[in-house]
Amino acid sequence: MTVLRKTQIVIVGGGAGGLELARRLGARFGRRTHDIILVDKNRTHIWKPLLHEVAAGSLDANLDEVGYRSHCHRWGYRFFLGTLERIDPAAREIVIAPLLDEDGSELIGRHRLRYDYLVLAMGSVGNDFGTPGAREHCIFLDERQQADRFRDKLLNHCLRVSRAMVADPASDAHVDVAIVGGGATGVELAAELFNAAGALRYYGLEVFDEQRLRVTLIEAGPRILPALPERLAEAAQRELEALGVTVLTNTPVTEVTGDAMLLKSGDRIPADLRVWAAGVKTAPLADEADGLARAASGQFIVRPTLQTETDDRIFAIGDCAYCIPPGETRPVPPRAQSAHQMASAVFRNLVAIEAGRPLRPFVYRDHGSLVSLSRFSTVGSLMGNLIGGRMAIEGRLARFVYTSLYRMHLIAIHGWLKGWAMILLGRVNRIIRPRLKLH
Ligand SMILES: Cc1cc2nc3c(=O)[nH]c(=O)nc-3n(C[C@H](O)[C@H](O)[C@H](O)COP(=O)(O)OP(=O)(O)OC[C@H]3O[C@@H](n4cnc5c(N)ncnc54)[C@H](O)[C@@H]3O)c2cc1C
Repeated sequence: MTVLRKTQIVIVGGGAGGLELARRLGARFGRRTHDIILVDKNRTHIWKPLLHEVAAGSLDANLDEVGYRSHCHRWGYRFFLGTLERIDPAAREIVIAPLLDEDGSELIGRHRLRYDYLVLAMGSVGNDFGTPGAREHCIFLDERQQADRFRDKLLNHCLRVSRAMVADPASDAHVDVAIVGGGATGVELAAELFNAAGALRYYGLEVFDEQRLRVTLIEAGPRILPALPERLAEAAQRELEALGVTVLTNTPVTEVTGDAMLLKSGDRIPADLRVWAAGVKTAPLADEADGLARAASGQFIVRPTLQTETDDRIFAIGDCAYCIPPGETRPVPPRAQSAHQMASAVFRNLVAIEAGRPLRPFVYRDHGSLVSLSRFSTVGSLMGNLIGGRMAIEGRLARFVYTSLYRMHLIAIHGWLKGWAMILLGRVNRIIRPRLKLH
């Protein structure tokens, strides 16, 4: 009896791009002729652009996260929990690091996984550019665990200040937060903190309010939000300053200590909580002797088909892919919409390979950028053929488009029916659940 050898497609990273791709491949090929395997170092997925809301406590990640095991059962792929350690293109295998439990004891030893096609979708992490003390003393917002840690620390400091004020109403106690990076993540977090601080008084910290929060946003470049037109960046800065955020531009941070940010000017910004939200790079693998070409940012350099430069069987998508589309000079930016579009392009190309058709180049469509200043405002620009180029938007329309991005992700990973059910559930939760996650 001949045993049919299934085509094995392995996706590493179940984020904005990888999870969408796993669902589409599982739904398309099922389990009979193909084995679609998703590998992720975490058990659950949370859409990364929500992490600043998780950090501020205005979003309960337990309600929005997706368990990979139940998702793969529904959509016809398999899930492996583990961290990619090494790629072995010659053997067409990847090496997964030993899986340890919380005490550090080994649950599953180092093992190898065969692939016919491999899709790298491991995303990115914040880039501290080697700044002394940044890794040790800052919280990065790369994963849910980090956002949870920030929220716990924030609540503890709010409690400390609240107690100090009960003991002495004239107390000058404050929670000082310093955020490095005036891009979307830093700006969105700064605004979200004021939204959360305002809500704390309803949940037991009667003497705490947003006046007790001091947030400093530190940007090395000449202005915040460089991806947005100058007028919108200025509007966002005005809105932040009206909330009480101190915005410092042209201000490089040279060192971070356990209680402050040290600036190139010699000044020192004291901070109870320090967040690093600047720059992105691909997290290095434990062993990178795989022969794959990488850019200075650590991203895998891919051709227009999104195949890596030296290996037709390995694709890269999302933040970990360095792709300069034909006719362009700049690489595709690390954004959720890029990861989504690349996932669709690799899906089409894997289907084309199976059907014996030629692969198509990836075409990036920039639909614009939007930045949410929590409930206070949303600013951004839309791009498109319909509107004839770039259009600046603010307010309700911008808010609607911003929330639509997450809705599209929900539909992409759950399908239309469950996707819409999740969207409606989210709205109901917003009415019946507390405004803040306080534990
Ligand atoms: C706070 C914040 C706000 C943002 N806001 C926006 C926004 O408003 N709009 C926008 O377009 N973009 C935004 N972004 C950027 C956006 O989130 C990313 O561009 C997008 O998530 C990239 O998708 P991805 O699939 O490449 O990687 P990710 O979504 O980061 O997923 C990577 C996955 O790989 C897994 N992984 C990593 N390393 C390994 C390994 N070695 N082994 C196994 N698994 C691994 C991770 O656990 C994760 O599940 C924001 C990012 C942050 C941090």
